[in-house]
Amino acid sequence: MKASHAKRYLPLALCAVLLTRCSCDFFGTTGALLISENDESKLGLEFDKQLHDSTATYPVYVANTPDRIAFDNYVQSIAHEILVAIPKADKPGYEFKITIIDKDVENAFAVPGGYVYIYTGIIKKMRNESELTGVLGHEIAHVTQHHYRDAMAKDAALSLILQALLGNDAGQLTQLIASNFATLAQLKVSRDNESEADFYGTKYTGAVGRNPLGIATLFSRFDAGGPPSWLSTHPAPVNRVADVQAEVDGSATLKALAADSARTDFTANFDLNTKALPKN
Ligand SMILES: [Zn+2]
Repeated sequence: MKASHAKRYLPLALCAVLLTRCSCDFFGTTGALLISENDESKLGLEFDKQLHDSTATYPVYVANTPDRIAFDNYVQSIAHEILVAIPKADKPGYEFKITIIDKDVENAFAVPGGYVYIYTGIIKKMRNESELTGVLGHEIAHVTQHHYRDAMAKDAALSLILQALLGNDAGQLTQLIASNFATLAQLKVSRDNESEADFYGTKYTGAVGRNPLGIATLFSRFDAGGPPSWLSTHPAPVNRVADVQAEVDGSATLKALAADSARTDFTANFDLNTKALPKN
């Protein structure tokens, strides 16, 4: 009992030390930096377990027919390609896990630890493989750049989860994730983080030979019909499409891939592998 109490007080003591040394906020980015990749994995694993137990709100895609198996494998294979293309030094050491949620929600999100979730609702809005690669690349970039972990540190309630990780208190971690579940699934990051995720997502899309403008064409289509939840939970500057275009224009390689969109959008392959999804 004594040992567990000592563990529980450790993060508070640590924070007190940090507060006397710097002018960081409550837990702050400095605190977030103390979270190891192993801690991020623990957080993601517990979140993922609870998500799989919440079938009414988060119905995980069931691949039980040949078309549905093909679709599931297809999404996994695109994510895998992106992850293989990212240099080892630029990504965390943990494995990523991509989960499809079978619900008409135009959204995708991730939590620390490499857990990425994408709804069938947003994939139904897509027209080609570049758009799918762009969205997966964007979410993977939030993880590689630790955006969600940093966003947690800036939120008073969520920073308690990081403290539970530092204190190695598994019971408290489970309980805190359960009580903050919806917030974790809709973590808001800063505009700068969004721009950075667009930048890396576009870069990753080009690195795997798809049209790097995929995410921009998807954005443009949504603009006409009102913003989907993916955009509204991702506060973004109005010139997001223009930023992606400028990034592509600034790189000879990306520009050539975009100019060859008839080949680099892989539309036929996308249609073939998404047969299981009713199109909107
Ligand atoms: Zn984002």
